[in-house]
Amino acid sequence: MQLLKERIRRDGIVREGGVLKVDSFLNHQMDIDLFEEIGKEFHRRFEGEEVTKILTIEASGIGIACITARYFQVPVVFAKKNKTKNIAGDVYTSRVESFTHGRVYDIMVSKDFLGKGDKVLLIDDFLANGKALEGLAQLVEDAGAELTGAGIVIEKGFQRGGDAIRGRGIHLESLAIIDSMDAASGTITFRER
Ligand code: 5GP
Repeated sequence: MQLLKERIRRDGIVREGGVLKVDSFLNHQMDIDLFEEIGKEFHRRFEGEEVTKILTIEASGIGIACITARYFQVPVVFAKKNKTKNIAGDVYTSRVESFTHGRVYDIMVSKDFLGKGDKVLLIDDFLANGKALEGLAQLVEDAGAELTGAGIVIEKGFQRGGDAIRGRGIHLESLAIIDSMDAASGTITFRER
């Protein structure tokens, strides 16, 4: 997605350790015109596939998922992050190892909002090692729902997540795939699709 790549080149800040900061348009301040284009593009890429629900993870996936949901005309469910193991109520849970925060946390979704018959599209901002997507896919499986695919705004192609998710046969669509980035020069190169 050309518009997105141009925006990442212009406003993305490359940090040491393979972290890209996109706080000015995606992760802190949100450019809703860009989100509209992102939502439209996800809808185009999953055209013809059945989606009854969008599932994302708090917090940074929520805005993108909501705008995307307008195009699919389906509800959004976001998995809640929980630092403790004591989760009350009727919920599906799974465990995610965070790339950016370097710790493990539990995610949960109420059984009221995900179940048999749902065809689920996963949406998230970044794909790095794939742990967040794998955790979400696990919730879908535990709920007896069907996984339609996963839409990612920025995939870091130099990390293992993309290969792992595609290797599982999941339909993955990443709007921008970064092949390399250099913190010293700020240079970012993208994969052509
Ligand atoms: P994964 O689970 O694929 O290793 O990492 C994905 C999650 O970590 C995303 O939900 C995202 O919030 C965060 N993340 C991973 N890499 C980056 C990055 O380079 N920049 C930012 N802003 N978030 C990242």
